Amino acid sequence: MQKEDKLKEIISHAKEYGFVFPSSEIYDGLSATYDYGQLGSELKNNIKSYWWKSMVQMNENIVGVDTAIFMHPSVWKASGHVDAFNDPLIDNKDSKKRYRADVLIEDVIEKIRGKINKEVAKGVKRFGDDFNKDEFLATNVNVLRNKEKIKGIEDRMRTSLESEDLEGVYNLIMDLEIACPVSGSKNWTEVRQFNLMFSTELGSVSGESAKIYLRPETAQGIFVNFLNVQKSGRMKLPFGIAQIGKAFRNEIVARQFIFRMREFEQMEMQFFVRPGEEMKWYEHWKDQRIQWHKKLGLGDDNYRFHDHIKMAHYANAAADIEFDFPMGFKELEGIHSRTDFDLKQHEQLSGKKLQYFDPEINENYVPYVVETSIGLDRMFLAILSSCHKVEKLENGSERVVLCLPPALAPYKVAVMPLTRKDELPEKAKSILATLKTEFNCQYDEKDSPGKRYRRQDAIGTPYCVMVDHQTLEDNTVTIRDRDTMEQERVSIDQLTTIIGDKVSMAELLK
Ligand code: ATP
Repeated sequence: MQKEDKLKEIISHAKEYGFVFPSSEIYDGLSATYDYGQLGSELKNNIKSYWWKSMVQMNENIVGVDTAIFMHPSVWKASGHVDAFNDPLIDNKDSKKRYRADVLIEDVIEKIRGKINKEVAKGVKRFGDDFNKDEFLATNVNVLRNKEKIKGIEDRMRTSLESEDLEGVYNLIMDLEIACPVSGSKNWTEVRQFNLMFSTELGSVSGESAKIYLRPETAQGIFVNFLNVQKSGRMKLPFGIAQIGKAFRNEIVARQFIFRMREFEQMEMQFFVRPGEEMKWYEHWKDQRIQWHKKLGLGDDNYRFHDHIKMAHYANAAADIEFDFPMGFKELEGIHSRTDFDLKQHEQLSGKKLQYFDPEINENYVPYVVETSIGLDRMFLAILSSCHKVEKLENGSERVVLCLPPALAPYKVAVMPLTRKDELPEKAKSILATLKTEFNCQYDEKDSPGKRYRRQDAIGTPYCVMVDHQTLEDNTVTIRDRDTMEQERVSIDQLTTIIGDKVSMAELLK
């Protein structure tokens, strides 16, 4: 299946089963904003819970906060967002479509990477078990030529972006002969900078003085509370502050479903460290975060690290964890070494000291910060797209199944009476009443058992419990596993343990 078709399939599945709806759909939607439905909000909550548990509750030196979306306007001046939170944009004069100039260039780089991967695949085919990938990558002439090309493009892009040389970015687009994917033409406007922050006015007085911003990242709420948390929680360095919350960005190009939204949610953690120790912690968090992802079992090959070509204005080292989305490898999470940039800036603009007294070395200093920042909605898309499978069954039919990690599944178990007669529904409901206190359950008595199983497969429910006539005699039920489709007869007393073992988050957190 084509990758674009896969994304379409995910979007329609998400809508059909109540995961994600376009926002304000009865008014034809609002671009790049989405609503999470009855199952989407459950899945989202479970992802948040996995993140919060592993980042906050499993680390004695990390605490969580929940800060306001609105902040004093000086926060965004200090953080650099008013002056530097820009993306370079370019318009195609024929299609009238707008693009991010850096993304157009990165797409070219990605195509060249694709050529390298093809060479590797050819090598594997030719040499079989004797194939040495590292040696091949270091010596094959075609690979080396393409690597050189990538480096040349990356160097030019970095130099231009870092020196704000927008003409240089334009020239690179021209030299690479990039054409608009829609019109196919190379008739481009100049490259301009565009600030991504949304602004609004506070109170009833309009004008510059009342202008405030919707936060474009949750991190600043953490920075301005650094001392509040450190003092009230008697925290000792190194320690972290975490938060989950909404962020807003007026994205230039907002296609690709929930991957790039104008209102989205972030899960961020700022880890405060002694100056000079930041690279050690940067490596530590890179490692921790990739492990967090891999434990979900979505497939290790779906992840790769990508070092930033152009650092954000606050960073001295930055890497993305990229995921193989239906649109290809794209950023899922960023890990940044933010130095003492933010705290120092806030000290300067607020005139308040934001320092830590380190009793071990008897010194006051402004801590350095290593940040992990993941988009909740992107995580949602990563999970949905990699777990959505269309399987051919032995009898020739097909089933659509969401192989969600059980701990994240919206419903853990569906309880069903075989028929709507003979007091089977009453029995099923009494089982439901017991299971409900432990797990999010669904009750379903409509349609044939086969159809009901398919419905649960499509929303990722790990277990279905079927109540039949034998249940009335011996208090046993059949329990069906979503992935193997096998059914086992067990006693009702065992259900809580069987289901609990499978859906518990504890395994993921170990
Ligand atoms: P991109 O390069 O894709 O625009 P970014 O580098 O600007 O992303 P960060 O500022 O590092 O993103 O934000 C941290 C995380 O927040 C990202 O890794 C991503 O998961 C998420 N995120 C950023 N922008 C959006 C958006 N418009 N919609 C959904 N998630 C987003």
